[in-house]
Amino acid sequence: MSKHTSKQLAEADIRAILRAADEIIAEGGRTLLAKILKGSREKKVLLLGLNDCPTYGWFRAEKLEGVMHKIDWMIAHDFLDIQYSGKLPMIIFTDRGWEIEADQRADEFLSEWDQWLEDGEPSPDMYYLKDRNRHIILLFLEKIGETGDSKYIPYLKEWEIVDYKKVRAKIRSTIDKLEAKSPIDLSAVNERTESIHEALKGEAPQDLLLKCWECGDRFTFSVGEQQFYKQKGFVYPKRCPKCREKREMERFGLFE
Ligand SMILES: [Zn+2]
Repeated sequence: MSKHTSKQLAEADIRAILRAADEIIAEGGRTLLAKILKGSREKKVLLLGLNDCPTYGWFRAEKLEGVMHKIDWMIAHDFLDIQYSGKLPMIIFTDRGWEIEADQRADEFLSEWDQWLEDGEPSPDMYYLKDRNRHIILLFLEKIGETGDSKYIPYLKEWEIVDYKKVRAKIRSTIDKLEAKSPIDLSAVNERTESIHEALKGEAPQDLLLKCWECGDRFTFSVGEQQFYKQKGFVYPKRCPKCREKREMERFGLFE
């Protein structure tokens, strides 16, 4: 555990780390994530196709250890978390991290369409959007609707044919919205932008004052302890240090 939380990461770096984490979420740990960001040519990285991630090699110029520190910063600042799968510590998103990542993935889909439309591509095979994360897909459709641009309609119509009922309904309402040229709900757009902006701030972690389940006393759970517990995948302590010690002694028969 590194005791010091290094300096605030830039927004672009936070986004890049979240994007890379998305490739291995709940399936890989800190080291693998660091290797993607470092641009490692290791066999495992290449076999998993992780070199195709848009932020592969984002921290190419840094030492692997430095990249690990940044990942730990992300964990300490509640963007990422550790969850144990058996004995293996896996990277997962926190709510905050996921909010940012889902939003940028939806943007990624949208800019991909923009690119294809610009290149004059005929409707691509829309099967690639099926079975994607539902939250991202609905957000993507939300964003398409918010552009108010009818250029997306042919793609939407192709997509409508292949996807499931619930997504189809949302595609249909998006097409209707674009065809009707209905006014765009700017407040929804602003609200989301503001929320992402808030999420990206990643304010410094603080000591917590927890209440002991046993004696009811308040006790400090320091930032350092929080980080340690997080990295180990432990749940936060329920008892104050005194009561914890008492329990320990009872367990070993040293206390009556
Ligand atoms: Zn207590």
